[in-house]
Amino acid sequence: MRAGPSQEEIRRHNLGALLRHVHLSGPTSRAELTSRMGLNRSTIMALTADLTAAGLVREELPRETGRAGRPSLVVRPESARVYVFALDVGVDRLVAARVGLGGTILDRRETVRRRGAFSLDEIVGPLAAFARQMHRKTRADTVCVGVAAAFSGGVARGDGVVRFGPNMGAVDVPFADEMARRLAFGLPVMVGNDANLAALAEHTRGVGVGCRDLVYLHGDVGIGGGVIVNGQLLGGHGGFGGEVGHMVVNPKGRSCGCGSLGCLEAEVGERALLESAGLFGSGVGRDAVRAVVDAADRGDIGAQAALSRVGDWLGLGVANLVNIFNPEMVVFGGMLREIYLGSAAQVRSRLAVDALPTCRDDLRLRTSALGDDATLVGAAELAFAQVLADPIEVLARAGS
Ligand SMILES: [Zn+2]
Repeated sequence: MRAGPSQEEIRRHNLGALLRHVHLSGPTSRAELTSRMGLNRSTIMALTADLTAAGLVREELPRETGRAGRPSLVVRPESARVYVFALDVGVDRLVAARVGLGGTILDRRETVRRRGAFSLDEIVGPLAAFARQMHRKTRADTVCVGVAAAFSGGVARGDGVVRFGPNMGAVDVPFADEMARRLAFGLPVMVGNDANLAALAEHTRGVGVGCRDLVYLHGDVGIGGGVIVNGQLLGGHGGFGGEVGHMVVNPKGRSCGCGSLGCLEAEVGERALLESAGLFGSGVGRDAVRAVVDAADRGDIGAQAALSRVGDWLGLGVANLVNIFNPEMVVFGGMLREIYLGSAAQVRSRLAVDALPTCRDDLRLRTSALGDDATLVGAAELAFAQVLADPIEVLARAGS
C-alpha cells in the first residue's frame, strides 16, 4: 500500500497554492482565500503566517470594507521585495524586465535586434547588461528568485538548448547555460518557446483566464503557437509541441524557413503578407505589417487583397486546429493580432466552411489581451514557477 502525502508535503503544497492565488489575483482577503482554497480559517492563518515570516506576503487591513464587524485581513504579495528577471528574445527585439511577485513590471529595458546572421553574443550580451543594470538599482532587502527567457525558437525540454529557430538562424544554441554564465547571479536560466509562454500568459493573466481549452497563435516573423488542453500546455514528447506555424496548409505553396512547402507561417507570415501587398523590400517588422492593415482600412485594393489571401490561409489553419482540439477560444497574438483584425471576415468564412459545426459551436475568436508583452509575461511566469511550487524552500535558497 502506498502511503499518502505527509503533513509536511500537504503544508508545502498549500503554501504554494496560497502564494499562487495572491500572485495571480492580487491582494485577497483571508476570508476569500478560505472559501477559494476550501481550507479552514486556522489553516489559512497558519499558512499566511509562514509566508509572511518568509517575506513573501504581507497582511494589512483592507482600505474599505463597507461592512460592519471585524474586517478580514488582506494578504498581499511582496511585489517590491521578491522578484524575477524575465527576458524576451524576439526576431526584432530583446527585452529584459524585473518583475515583482504578483506580476508587476518593476523595471524594463529594451533594444532592437538586427536581423541577419545569428550571434549568441549579440543576444546574451545586451540582455545580461540590462539585467545587471536593473540588479544594481535594487534595494539590499530584495531577493531574486528566478530568471527565465522566452525565445523565438524550438527549445528542448530540460536543458535550455534552442534546437531550431528558422527565423533567427539559430540551431543547437546553448542559450540557457551561456545566459546563466554571463549573468553570474548563481541562478539557472529557464528557457521556453516564446509562443508557448505567451499562450500560458494569456491563459493565466490575459484574455483566456478561466478557459480550460485554448489555442493561441503568435505571429513574430513566422507563426508559433501554444495549445492549452484541460488547463495544461501541450508539450509533446520532446517539448516541441504546438508548432502550429509548420502545419502544412498548401503543399504546393510557398517555401518555408523550415525547409517544407506551404506551412501556415509561409502562407500567413510577415513575408507572405508583404509580398502579396507588393511591399516586400520596403521595410519589415511590425510597423510594415501595420502599414498594410492601415492601408486596407483606408480602402487600398492591393492591401485588402493581400489581407484577404492571408486571412484565407489563416482561416484554413485555424479550422484544422479547431477540428483537432475543439478549443473554447482561439487567441491571435503578436503580429497576428493585426493580421486577424484586418482579415477577421475571411477567417470566419473559412471556419464556417472548413470547421466541423460540433467543433466551432461556442468557439470564441479573440485577440491577445497582453499585447506585445505576452511573451515577456510568460517568461516571468516561468521564472516564478519554482517559488510558487515550494515557496519557503526556494526563498531560503535564494536568500542564502
Ligand atoms: Zn515550416
